[in-house]
Amino acid sequence: MMTPLLGCIADDFTGATDLANNLVRAGMRTVQTIGVPESADAVFADAIVVALKSRTVPATAAVAQSLKAYQWLKAQGVSQIYFKYCSTFDSTPAGNIGPVTDALLDAIHGEGKGFTIVCPAFPENQRTIFNGHLFVGEQLLSDSGMRDHPLTPMTDANLVRVMQAQTKRRVGLVNYAAVSKGADAIKAAFQNLQDQGYGVAVVDAISNTDLMAMGAALAGMPLVTAGSGVAIGLPQNWRATGQLPPSDHADQLPPPSGYQAVISGSCSVATNQQVAVWRDAGLPALAIDPLGLANGTTTADAAADWARQHLPKGPVLVYATAAPEVVREIQAQLGVAAAGALVESALSGIAVSLIESGVRQLVVAGGETSGAVVQALAVERMAIGPQIDPGVPWTCVNAAAAGDQTVHVALKSGNFGTPDFFQKAFAALTPKSA
Ligand code: ADP
Repeated sequence: MMTPLLGCIADDFTGATDLANNLVRAGMRTVQTIGVPESADAVFADAIVVALKSRTVPATAAVAQSLKAYQWLKAQGVSQIYFKYCSTFDSTPAGNIGPVTDALLDAIHGEGKGFTIVCPAFPENQRTIFNGHLFVGEQLLSDSGMRDHPLTPMTDANLVRVMQAQTKRRVGLVNYAAVSKGADAIKAAFQNLQDQGYGVAVVDAISNTDLMAMGAALAGMPLVTAGSGVAIGLPQNWRATGQLPPSDHADQLPPPSGYQAVISGSCSVATNQQVAVWRDAGLPALAIDPLGLANGTTTADAAADWARQHLPKGPVLVYATAAPEVVREIQAQLGVAAAGALVESALSGIAVSLIESGVRQLVVAGGETSGAVVQALAVERMAIGPQIDPGVPWTCVNAAAAGDQTVHVALKSGNFGTPDFFQKAFAALTPKSA
């Protein structure tokens, strides 16, 4: 019998995986769900991450989705809720971080009551907070590329001000002077703010040491809101109470089986390089030409047939990945959205067909492409396994296309991974010989 301890609500898909990856590395067995599951069946894990797509939808929709996730997590018996947003605090004065935080606090503590933190810090990824100001590397958030984001331009680095514009609660600051003194000082600062009528505290953090001290101070706080970094400091609390075993095996997945394939729809610099490294190694690779898909001279079925011939001999790559000038030309002919949809539909169809043909280890490159593949496979839950490269773990899913057998899946968003990522991914699953 195992009751999950931590229930997380993530406002987007790759952010959810990033958080799950951090939890696993900190020793919690973690399951990620795609959306709020319909079934109330118990999830066997120390932590559950519900992946929503609520970052840029209207605030009312984000609140509704988040409350639904909260109710489901509560029914799973979790003892702490974690609302996860981007480490660049992607939001606008209309939300959605403030309205979702308010709604969750209201649901947990009652209208207008309760207390929580705001902390997008992730020092390993160069996101730090000092005197309430968020830095991306050495730049203030408002001087970084985020100032030009198409949906959530961040033109103010002062998180107290940014959050105050979105929430009905008063927002205060726990500054570095308190954080650097450790968990007790941080807890005292929380109490002090609460006594003065504050409902939210932005907390400074510039290192993992700060995150560990903050984590200890967060023991028993019913709602935490943060980026993925703060999660590394929470497992110690349940270890201290004996609820979480000192597990070195949180990333264990069932043994891998079956054929190996890579499906790539990302056209990022990193992915172009990864495809080139694969081809240079003489491994089987098939390029999918979107213009061929459009005029019917290339089909998903033909690509799957090609792959089936090679699979018994080793891993194959099917890719639409192309250089920027090629992509521009294709987009000029087909339209940006139409080209994307055509390629996503073909690649996800190929993925399903390969799994039906016995592929049980699948790497997918591209954020949107991953979303399309996971949707085509009707994946609802993923167990999070070992990290291949920062931000990209192996996961295990059940898929109807695999006759309900387990499939190992790695979803790589565009710019992640070293040049030999694809080969490295399969090597990471190969059992080490004794
Ligand atoms: P990334 O994570 O690198 O942004 P995505 O999968 O999120 O990758 O986005 C890439 C988009 O480009 C997808 O919609 C994909 O279908 C599309 N695409 C892939 N290859 C091509 C191509 N050769 N021409 C035009 N569009 C393409």
